[in-house]
Amino acid sequence: MKRAILSDIHGNLEALEAVLEDVRALGVDEIFCLGDIVGYGPNPRECVDRVMQFNRCVLGNHDQGALYDPEGFSSGAEKAIFWTRDQLEMPNGDAEKTRKRWEFLSELPRTFNVGPFTFVHGSVRNPLNEYVFPEDVYNARKLERIFALIERYCFQGHTHVPGVFTEEGKFLSPDEINGKYVLPLGKAMINVGSVGQPRDMDPRSCYVVLTEQFVEFRRVPYPLERTMEKILSIPELDPFLAERLKEGR
Ligand code: ZN
Repeated sequence: MKRAILSDIHGNLEALEAVLEDVRALGVDEIFCLGDIVGYGPNPRECVDRVMQFNRCVLGNHDQGALYDPEGFSSGAEKAIFWTRDQLEMPNGDAEKTRKRWEFLSELPRTFNVGPFTFVHGSVRNPLNEYVFPEDVYNARKLERIFALIERYCFQGHTHVPGVFTEEGKFLSPDEINGKYVLPLGKAMINVGSVGQPRDMDPRSCYVVLTEQFVEFRRVPYPLERTMEKILSIPELDPFLAERLKEGR
C-alpha cells in the first residue's frame, strides 16, 4: 500500500497539479489531504474540486475560516479568507457544484485513523489550530504531552515546515535524512510540509509518500510565476502572498 499525503494546498492550483502529476507517476494507491485546501491562493474552487476526488481529507483552520467566522488570523490572512469565501459562494454558473463544495468542506472531520497512522492538520492535541514547530524541540514538555496522545505515527501539516519529530525529542529535516525516514518501533510525528506555500526556504512543493515501512519526502518544482501573477492581479490578496512563494518562506 502506497499513499500520498498532501497538506496546505492553499488554493495554489499550479502547485497542486504539479504534485498530482508526480503522484500519478509514482503509482500510489490512495491520496490523503491534511487540510488548508484554501486560503492565501488564487484558485480555491479548483483546488477543492480536485481534493474532492481524494480518498480522505481533514479540515484545516483556513478551510474552517472560509466556512465560519475566521478567528485568530492576521489581517492579511483574514482578508484572503473573506475573498476565498466569496469565491466559494459564487455560483459560477453551476449552483449544484457550489453546493457540493460547501457540503464537502463542512463535513470534513478534524482527524481520522488508518491502522497505526493518525492524520490531523495541526496536532493530535488540537487538530485544527496547534502548531508544532521544529523549535519546539526546546520545549520538551510540549512534545512529551503531544506524544502521550499519539498512538504510533501522527501525520500533520499546518506549519508548512516538513520533517520528523522523534519520540526522543529530536527534529529531523528531510535533508538530514536524505528525504527518507524508516518508521521506528516507537512513535513519530511527521510533518508533510506544504504543497501550495512551502516555508522552509525551498520554494518547491512538498508532500510525502507513505508505505507500511517508510516515509519519503518529495519536492516538486512548479511554475510559481504563474501563481504569483494571479495573486498580484487580485487586490484582496496581499502581494506578500506572491513574494513568499518565490522565497519559500
Ligand atoms: Zn496552512
